[in-house]
Amino acid sequence: MPHPFIQDTPIAPVAEGLLSVILLGTGTPRAYPGAAKPAVAVAAGGQVLLFDCGSDTVRQLISSGLMPQRVRDVFFTHHHYDHNAGFPDLFISSWRTHVGVIPGRSQAMRVYGPTRTREIIGKFYDALAYDIGLRVAYNKSDAAGADIEFFEKNSGLVFDQNSVRVTAFAVDHRPVEPALGYLIEYRGKRVVISGDTRPMPSTAAHAREADLLIHDAYNELWLTEIASENPDQAIQVTNPAKYHTTTLEAAKIAQEAQVQHLVLTHHIPVPQATSEAETAYITGMSEIFSGRITVGRDLMRFDLETN
Ligand SMILES: [Zn+2]
Ligand SMILES: [Zn+2]
Repeated sequence: MPHPFIQDTPIAPVAEGLLSVILLGTGTPRAYPGAAKPAVAVAAGGQVLLFDCGSDTVRQLISSGLMPQRVRDVFFTHHHYDHNAGFPDLFISSWRTHVGVIPGRSQAMRVYGPTRTREIIGKFYDALAYDIGLRVAYNKSDAAGADIEFFEKNSGLVFDQNSVRVTAFAVDHRPVEPALGYLIEYRGKRVVISGDTRPMPSTAAHAREADLLIHDAYNELWLTEIASENPDQAIQVTNPAKYHTTTLEAAKIAQEAQVQHLVLTHHIPVPQATSEAETAYITGMSEIFSGRITVGRDLMRFDLETN
């Protein structure tokens, strides 16, 4: 008879031979219902890689069934707060601090990202030092799991383990600099995460014939209307959009790269969860891109079968 407390279940299997991509958050710095802060989990080769770590990440990892304990490798695209504020919670929640069906991390967390990652994530880590010390000394949490290894690299191969390869490439999100996109490869399948960026040839080049392109997007027409309805806030509405990609520009990149499937995320603004709203949000895209288009939603999962 099992104990009547909540176990680490349900737990989504990380199936051998699948490259699984789970959208943990499809939102932005603004708080919207139904659109968590940005993060993408990639499960392949028996491991779960996390790309960005918005403030809802731990809760979304639990909701997805992946569980935070499975995460040892965290890749940052850039250091806007919507992409990194969940890190302190993830660091502790993934650590071996209790018994459970899925054991926690008993090794250092590995953190990858652009220049400044060590400085910024290191400050989060410093803020946890008091708590970490207590856990090691009193709770007897695994001391080896209390550490972080940093890997700062702005382009090229950053991870190669169990047949999973991750390549970073530069994108343009100025004034945030540097900012990265990532290509993930596993047994012949290819997934690209654009990060926050203007439309970039580097994204199209790395996404060449990719199975999945997850691209940030905003609807230019909707934003123009919002700005004209709120003239005193127009600059605050339109300026951030300048370092993102419109829905139509994302379609152009997907067409140029000949990707199989384009998934939009980081929606500005977030379309309502109705087919009418989604159709309006992606208006004009199918005239540009002939492949599959999906309006990404929190906890959507894409399973790519490998050879
Ligand atoms: Zn963002
Ligand atoms: Zn950003």
